[in-house]
Amino acid sequence: MPRAQAMVGPRFEQTDLKLQPRPLAAIELIHEEPVRFVKEHVVVCDGGGGPLGHPKIFINVDKPEVVPCGYCGLPFAHIHNKAAIVANGQGSHGQYVIQD
Ligand SMILES: [Zn+2]
Repeated sequence: MPRAQAMVGPRFEQTDLKLQPRPLAAIELIHEEPVRFVKEHVVVCDGGGGPLGHPKIFINVDKPEVVPCGYCGLPFAHIHNKAAIVANGQGSHGQYVIQD
């Protein structure tokens, strides 16, 4: 078929993303992990240890925001900042899941 003809007329194009098969991205799965509220100002994360773990890192949670682990993405925040995090939109209807 000449190129000029091939480029006209109906062409298949799936535009409804709900019909597209799409595995959950890791970033979406990690965002289903509820925020870990801690009483310390520095959290140690090793990803849970074992084969799924990662080197220990220290995460500072002084700021009133959720801080994801740079290795595994688990979200951490200081317990005293819970209300501020919900108020600033990172909360349950925002980027992160917050459990009562
Ligand atoms: Zn981690």
